[in-house]
Amino acid sequence: MYIKDVIGFIQEIAPLETAESFDNVGLLVGDKNTKVSGVLITLDTLENVVDEAIMENCNLIVSFHPIIFKGLKKINGKNYVEKTIIKAIKNDIAIFSMHTALDNSNIGVSAKMAEMLNLNRTKVLLPKKQELSKLTTYIPKENAEKLLQALYKAGAGSIGNYSECSFNYPGVSTFKGNDFSNPVIGKKNKLEINPETCINVLFEKYKEAQILEALFKNHIYEEVAYEIIPLNNTNQQLGMGMVGELPIDLSEEQFLQMVKDVFFAEGIRFSSLQNKKIKKVAVLGGSGAFAIDQAKSMRADAYISADFKYHDFFKAEKDILLVDIGHYESEQFTKNLLFDYLNKKFTNFATSLGKTKIVLSKINTNPINYL
Ligand SMILES: [Zn+2]
Repeated sequence: MYIKDVIGFIQEIAPLETAESFDNVGLLVGDKNTKVSGVLITLDTLENVVDEAIMENCNLIVSFHPIIFKGLKKINGKNYVEKTIIKAIKNDIAIFSMHTALDNSNIGVSAKMAEMLNLNRTKVLLPKKQELSKLTTYIPKENAEKLLQALYKAGAGSIGNYSECSFNYPGVSTFKGNDFSNPVIGKKNKLEINPETCINVLFEKYKEAQILEALFKNHIYEEVAYEIIPLNNTNQQLGMGMVGELPIDLSEEQFLQMVKDVFFAEGIRFSSLQNKKIKKVAVLGGSGAFAIDQAKSMRADAYISADFKYHDFFKAEKDILLVDIGHYESEQFTKNLLFDYLNKKFTNFATSLGKTKIVLSKINTNPINYL
C-alpha cells in the first residue's frame, strides 16, 4: 500500500476540497508514492509523536490538525513546528492532515461527538450554501441511460440518503453542422430535428472536473450541449457541527455531569443554569463560538463546543446552555473515528502481502492542564 492509497481512503469521508479556504490540509510532508510501513493516527503532530512513529515503524502520520498552518519561511528548528518538521523529514516520515475537511464531513468530528452522546435524529448544524451545481445536458433517448450511469459513477445525483437522482424529460433538438463537422446523426450542412432526452443532475461543486470528464466520455455527440448552473441551495450533508436529540430529557445538572464523563473533561465551563430540561443538543468540535447563534436559532437546549471567550457566554441569555469542554476534549475521539475507518478499509484492501498496521497514538497532545 502507498501513501496515495491511504489518502484516497480518507478522502472518501472527508474530501480535501471541502476544507475551509483558510486551512492547510493534505500531504504536508512526504511523497505520496512512498510505500506505507504503518500509519500512526494522532490529533496533533508534535516532536514526541514523530518519535512514536519511528518507534512503531510507521512512516505515515495521519494528523487531524496541520502542523504547518500559515507557512514556514525558515526551517532551522527555532520552534516546535520547525523541530517537528525537521525530525519528520530526517526520518522519512510523511505527515497528512485533513482538519476542516473532517470538520465539514457529516460523518466527521462533530458526528463522532454526537455519537458519543447518543444523539438521535442528527443533522448538520451549519450546512453550507452554494456548494452544489446542476448539470443539464441533451442526448438521444436510447443513449441516456448509459450517460446517466456514468454521471452517477462520477459522483452526480446524490441527495442525502438517495443516489441516482435525476430529472429527465423528452424534447426536440435541432442542429446543423458546417463543412468541418462530423455529425454522429444526420449529415453536415443539413438541419437535423431529433427527439432527445434532457437530463438534469445535481452534484457537489468540487466534483465538477470528474463529472465533465464522464459527460464528454459518455456522450455520443461531437459537440456536447450542456449547462452547469451554480445553485444557491444549502447542502444539508456538508458543514460544521451537528444537532440532535438525547434519548431522554435530562436536568441541566445531569446533562453537565454526563458531558463531563463522556469527554473525560477535567474542567468544563458553562453559562448560567435556567432550570430547564435538556433534550436537543448542538455540538461542534474545536473552537465553536462562531456557531452559538446558529445553535440558538436551531432551538438547541444546549451547545457543546470549546474556546468560548468571556463575552461569548453572555450570548446564552436565557435561551441555551453553553458548555465549553475544552478544544482537545471535544476533538479527542476523532482519532478513534479515523482508526476505525482505516481499519475497516485496510481489511478490505489487504492482500497476500499482509495488512498494513495502523497505530492509535498513545500520546495525549493536549497543551492545557487543569488543577
Ligand atoms: Zn481543533
